[in-house]
Amino acid sequence: MSLALEVYRVCRETADAHGGGRLERALLAVGELSAVEPDLIRFAWEAVLADTDDVGASLEIDWRRAHQHCPWCQEPKERIEGGWLRLCPDCGRPLDVSGGDELDILELSFTTNDDGRRDQAIAGHHHEAGAKDEP
Ligand SMILES: [Zn+2]
Repeated sequence: MSLALEVYRVCRETADAHGGGRLERALLAVGELSAVEPDLIRFAWEAVLADTDDVGASLEIDWRRAHQHCPWCQEPKERIEGGWLRLCPDCGRPLDVSGGDELDILELSFTTNDDGRRDQAIAGHHHEAGAKDEP
């Protein structure tokens, strides 16, 4: 719930800073290693918005796979199914893993007060998992 709330807060602040009205849609990049379940955050998002003027705004998830490469086999690999360890399925050695930890608001759409519609591409709102808000 708290992550959805934080995502919503950032969306709301961003819309407000641009003279925005109601939120319509947000696009969130979620890496497979970010420990975020897309279904759960969508559910939490709806719960967060239920008590706001932005109820009904959609949250879309851009699912990002991690890039896993075996330095010994010299090729990209899938991690062993269900494994916590990032081991090469062929040679059993550790994989080099990059990406997959994204948690970024990529796009935000909201109505504007002059009743136009604005699509806002947002960059730089990166959420660190477990990061604390300022006191
Ligand atoms: Zn290998």
